[in-house]
This record gives sequence, structure tokens and C-alpha cells, in this order.
Amino acid sequence: MATVLVTGVNRGIGLEFCRQYAEAGWKVLACCRRPAQASDLEGLAIHYPAISIHQLELGNFGQIDALAHALASEAIDVLINNAGVYGDGARNVPGDIDYELWTQVMRINALAPVKMTEAFLPHIARGGRKLVVAITSLMGSMGDNSSGGAIMYRSSKAALNAAMKSLSIDLGSRGIGVLILHPGWVKTDMGGTNAPTSPAESVAGLRRVIDGFSPRDSGHFLDFRGRELPW
Ligand code: NDP
Repeated sequence: MATVLVTGVNRGIGLEFCRQYAEAGWKVLACCRRPAQASDLEGLAIHYPAISIHQLELGNFGQIDALAHALASEAIDVLINNAGVYGDGARNVPGDIDYELWTQVMRINALAPVKMTEAFLPHIARGGRKLVVAITSLMGSMGDNSSGGAIMYRSSKAALNAAMKSLSIDLGSRGIGVLILHPGWVKTDMGGTNAPTSPAESVAGLRRVIDGFSPRDSGHFLDFRGRELPW
């Protein structure tokens, strides 16, 4: 049985990753920061016993190390760094930038996925597929930025992309691949109700890209349909 670890799974795209991987027969290590309040996830884990729920606040790097230690016997085929935060749009504009909040957004969106990869390297190295996935955003693309704004979110995803690109090179010699994936504009709390893509459609596409991974894809910035995106 293949194993996937996913972060940020109590709602949105992360919850759908759990549903689809469990349905496909995978073992799912489902990480969320408030399991006691994750009723949808709890319901899913009752339906699919292959889902185990693990408490993880990604801003606390000590917790990341502790979880990696607690799961030391697991081989992880695919690590999906999904959790993310947008930051406060209203305080993202010149004259009213909240630097404390920006630091938090950078920590969750850019630093934590690197820390997760570092902490879980031994588990990934033992896995069959040896793949790290970063769920990023087209908003992290400088080539695509024609509307400005969202400084915190854009810069954090651009930093994530740069870090993951380096990891794809650094880990390539160990046979570990890295995919940098944009899920589309998705109907979730973050994406809002006008988004054209359902979580089910986005995750089905992302899973197809992940399943079809070959080493030459490592370090590439792709969308959920497998199309190459501009940095
Ligand atoms: P949601 O806002 O619906 O879900 C975000 C998830 O991240 C929640 O489970 C949330 O948990 C978790 N999370 C946030 N902060 C932390 C933290 N400090 N520790 C642990 N978990 C945390 O977003 P989506 O499902 O839409 O987004 C998933 C990913 O896709 C994100 O990385 C996002 O940037 C990216 N993305 C989304 C797009 C969209 O249109 N929806 C477009 C492009 C990219 P909690 O409930 O506890 O806050």
C-alpha cells in the first residue's frame, strides 16, 4: 500500500486529497492543526480506516520534528505540502503593510514546506515513489503578475517556488523528485465561491500529474492539468 502525507487537511484541497487518495487505496497520514475541530476529516477517517489523523501546527518547527520522530517507522511515497495562508488582503498595500503578519505568511507558505521536507527526508527516501509536492500558486509567478497587490501571498509563493526548485536539484542525486504545482482557482475558503474549479476536479488533476511524475519533471512549475507555468 502506497503512503501519502498531506498537510492542511481539515478543509479545502487538503481534505479532498485525503478523500481521493483513501478512495484509491492509499494509506493517508493526514496532518491538521486542530483535529478536535476537524469534523469533516473525522467523518472521512471513520469511512476510510487507512486515514490516520496527526496534529500539526506548521508554524511550530519543534512539532514538525516531533511528528517526524513519532512516524519514524513510516515509509512515505509522496509528501504533499498543501497547507497555506493568504494573509490579510486589506493590509497588503503600500501604506498599510503588516510586517508581522507577512513574516507569519512567509513562515507557513515558504519555510514550513522546506522544514517538512527536511524532517521527513528519511521517510521519503524509504518510499517507493520518493516525491515531494509543493502546492504553490500562479500568484507566485512574476511572469504572470500584471495586477499587483497581495504582496504577502505572492512573495511567499515565489519564495516557496525558489526553495523547491533548489531542493529539486539538491535531492535529485538521492533519487528524490520535487513537483511545484498550482491547483487552479479552486472553490474553497481561500479561493471563494466564484472560483471555476471544484476541489474534486483540481485534486483529480493534481493526482494525475503526481501519478505521471517522471524524473525529468522534477523542479518544474506545472498546473493541475500538467501545463508548464512561467516563473
Ligand atoms: P483553505 O484556506 O481552504 O485551507 C487551508 C488549509 O491550510 C487549512 O486546512 C488550514 O487549517 C491549513 N493551515 C493554515 N495555516 C496552517 C498552519 N499554521 N498549520 C497547519 N495548517 C495550516 O485553502 P485551499 O484548500 O484553497 O488551499 C490549499 C493550498 O492551495 C494552499 O497552499 C493555497 O495557497 C493553494 N492554492 C489555492 C488556490 C485556490 O484557488 N483555492 C489557488 C492557488 C493555490 P485551519 O483550518 O486550521 O486554518
